[in-house]
Amino acid sequence: MSDLETRPREQVCRSKAGHGEQLLITARRVPLGKTTELARALPDRQIRMIGAWCFLDHYGPEELGTSPGMQVWAHPHTGLQTVSWLLEGEVEHRDSLGSQAMVRPDELNIMTAGHGIVHSEISQPDRPPRLHGVQLWVALPDGVRDVEPRFESYAELPDLALGTNGTAGIRGKLLLGELAGQRSPAITHSPLCGADLTLEPGSTGTVEVDPAYEYGTFVVAGSARVEDTDVAVDQLVYLGTGRSEIRLRSDQGGRMILLGGEPFGEDIVMWWNFIGRSHDEIVGYRTAWEHRDVRFSPVVSRDEKVMEAPPMPTVALKPRPPRRVGG
Ligand code: MN
Repeated sequence: MSDLETRPREQVCRSKAGHGEQLLITARRVPLGKTTELARALPDRQIRMIGAWCFLDHYGPEELGTSPGMQVWAHPHTGLQTVSWLLEGEVEHRDSLGSQAMVRPDELNIMTAGHGIVHSEISQPDRPPRLHGVQLWVALPDGVRDVEPRFESYAELPDLALGTNGTAGIRGKLLLGELAGQRSPAITHSPLCGADLTLEPGSTGTVEVDPAYEYGTFVVAGSARVEDTDVAVDQLVYLGTGRSEIRLRSDQGGRMILLGGEPFGEDIVMWWNFIGRSHDEIVGYRTAWEHRDVRFSPVVSRDEKVMEAPPMPTVALKPRPPRRVGG
């Protein structure tokens, strides 16, 4: 995935009920290429990050028909991990390490950009008719943000079962970290977790969570009630820290991505597809991409179709804290 957004807009409303902080955020619509749109919940103006999670895009469900589907040509990343999770369909991932993988439902694909990587995400001509998925980015802490790039796929992920006795179920997959007594095999670089939960109609349940983590739940299908907040598709409830459990229910059924993590202790600069710590560092990444510096090897060849970086803004980029002060 690649950030094509130039003029972010957002809708935020605040809700405080009896069980701690609950901030409802509606994802904004942003273009993906010339024909497709997606919903972006993170970064939000107020909540830029949940733990090290710094980017949340939701695309589809879309009937591809004659549409080419996802056509994200070669583009670079630094200082982050991309976490690709498909709910339906198939996308081909290729990168400058020589990785070639079909991203499919129930398989977690994590690309650690670190020092620098280039990748493409393309729907193939023989792809399934529907496309639905999320892409998340995880900011790498300072000590590891310059590591060698790598790409990993995990097909075997822990199953979660969270429904309360006597009610319809809440089931899911643990993508990263630890939750409900399970532990994901995926390698992480900061304390965080991520899960995909499906709530049957009429289900209620409680997830035990770590009070040191902040959490958010983003609905990708149906609807749900998270603590005291009703959440629809493309809405995120930010839950803050200090909880030992999160209460979930769904009358009609729903599916959500749950994200958590220790609040990220560093201010970052996130611009286009790069994460750094200063304006000058971002300029350096952009110039390196423009000049096809050795930092960014081609996926296939120097003749491949690529995405060029937008011009730098006329004002200096400033490092930003994970959460807006006073926001
Ligand atoms: Mn990307």
